[in-house]
Amino acid sequence: MSVTTVDSITPTTITPLLGMSLAELTAWVQEHGQPAYRGKQLYQWIYQQGARSLADVDVFSKQWRETVKDTPIGRSTIHHRSVSGDGTVKYLLKLKDGQIIEAVGIPSAKRLTVCVSSQVGCAMACTFCATGKGGFMRHLQPYEIIDQVLTVQGDFQERVTNVVFMGMGEPLANLDHVVTAVKCMNQDIGISQRSIVVSTVGIPGKIHELAQHELQVTLAVSLHAPNQRIRAELVPTAENYEIDDLLDECRDYVQITGRRLSVEYVLLAGVNDARSHASELASKLRGFQSHVNLIPYNPIEDADYDRPTPRDVQDFVDVLEQKHIAVSVRYSKGLGASAACGQLRANQRV
Ligand code: SAH
Repeated sequence: MSVTTVDSITPTTITPLLGMSLAELTAWVQEHGQPAYRGKQLYQWIYQQGARSLADVDVFSKQWRETVKDTPIGRSTIHHRSVSGDGTVKYLLKLKDGQIIEAVGIPSAKRLTVCVSSQVGCAMACTFCATGKGGFMRHLQPYEIIDQVLTVQGDFQERVTNVVFMGMGEPLANLDHVVTAVKCMNQDIGISQRSIVVSTVGIPGKIHELAQHELQVTLAVSLHAPNQRIRAELVPTAENYEIDDLLDECRDYVQITGRRLSVEYVLLAGVNDARSHASELASKLRGFQSHVNLIPYNPIEDADYDRPTPRDVQDFVDVLEQKHIAVSVRYSKGLGASAACGQLRANQRV
């Protein structure tokens, strides 16, 4: 009787090279019969030149490349690309298993910011968010997160200076992979940790866990409401996480890391945009090293909300400023391509 092992029926997947450190790549080339200095060359080809496949790395002999041709670097392919009037470029990237994720390149005078996804889809189901409407598919691997930065860098032919985890998914639900990706972006691509923002809706205990990694990344918390009642309406997962407990965790993060907290607040007309809400928010944030980012709602299909008037936005800002809360208003980039915040993928019906 023959015994079929699991290995013999499951095709073994080879770990992609993207995400490996210089030491790991050096060990890898040595295992494959190359001298150690080749590790450094491969490292530069992957992280600086943006090689997409080992076949491209022509400092290695053709013969050797043939022997390692089954090892992937781990790059995605650009499935769709759209450019809006302000220069923002939105990408739909196709992963090895055919899943599609979004990434966005946002150029400004001195910066190139990439908005990255951390999951395919999202399980948080926030009522105003297009990604949330589509449900959750799977976590991204570290290499699939890092790839998004290299893809934008390659497409713009310009160094990426900033990364925000504000694409698809909830980064703290995929914390280990996010932390690995952040370390790689920092050490291998050369992006300062202080120029990386991890945005979360908040999962009990996870902000503490992030703080224990002692990174210098900025934490952005998607608060969206000044009290538990409104928050639980907009963010279903908040039902099991009191707003005060969330803010306590954020306060600890600020204390442990010395970083200022970013507070994200989507303004929805008639829901959370009254002057009284601004006042309540200011009280909640009293004594906190924080900065509030107000994001006027960007209308999506299947959600019954309206964008507040510029007058209401200004009133909200005025109340916060009177109470000495640092505040900015951010409009979603790339509205011209009707592709902000999850809509590109939704519109493409992939
Ligand atoms: N899950 C994480 C990361 C996703 S980014 C988090 O919730 O923080 C989520 C951000 O996208 C929100 O803070 C909000 O600023 C923005 N967003 C999502 N849908 C939006 C919409 N319809 N209009 C404006 N901003 C939206």
